[in-house]
Amino acid sequence: MSNTTPTTTQTVITRGNPHLPEVALTFDDGPSEYTPQVLAVLQGYNAQATFFSIGESISHYPNYLHQDLAVGNHTFTHPHLTTLSASEIYRELNQTRTAIYNATGTRPTVFRPPYGEYNNDVLNAASQLGMTVVNWSAAASDWENPPPAADVIASRILGCAENGAIFLLHEGGGDRSNTVAALPAIILGLQSRGLRLVTIPEMLAHLNRTETR
Ligand SMILES: [Zn+2]
Repeated sequence: MSNTTPTTTQTVITRGNPHLPEVALTFDDGPSEYTPQVLAVLQGYNAQATFFSIGESISHYPNYLHQDLAVGNHTFTHPHLTTLSASEIYRELNQTRTAIYNATGTRPTVFRPPYGEYNNDVLNAASQLGMTVVNWSAAASDWENPPPAADVIASRILGCAENGAIFLLHEGGGDRSNTVAALPAIILGLQSRGLRLVTIPEMLAHLNRTETR
């Protein structure tokens, strides 16, 4: 009977505080060969970001994640979670939580379901493992094949620049060189609009603030 499934009070976050000039870049599907390039650009512009990483990819690039990074959980094998049983969903999230802990020494507090797809079992598993579910407010569709040009990726992001925006980008799952090439224009464009680039955990910590600075 479906009514034996406990319901969760977990909500899915798609944006930050609209009163604060903060935005979040998120990079899904890594770590990958592009991770060091992404990190170098971010560091060069003093920008923060969040990496929703795939558990089985962490074993291929164990040195790309470290404790200074905001790393979120993006499942172990990137499945369509809504096709899995509750126990399979839990295993996907828990295995990845362990992989992130082993790589960074920190357990992830944020989770993004592949394809943004979730159901009650997904929300329950995330809640049991102490993670907030975070999707996005704007996407660059940089996963398209062939990938869009760097200036297209940048203009898609900057066209959605507003307080509290959460941007979806990809650092894995294909050729992401155009995404890397778009980053300087994205970061400079956001900063020139007075928007601060923060991590998702920082954005979540500010959700209930009412002052504007
Ligand atoms: Zn993904």
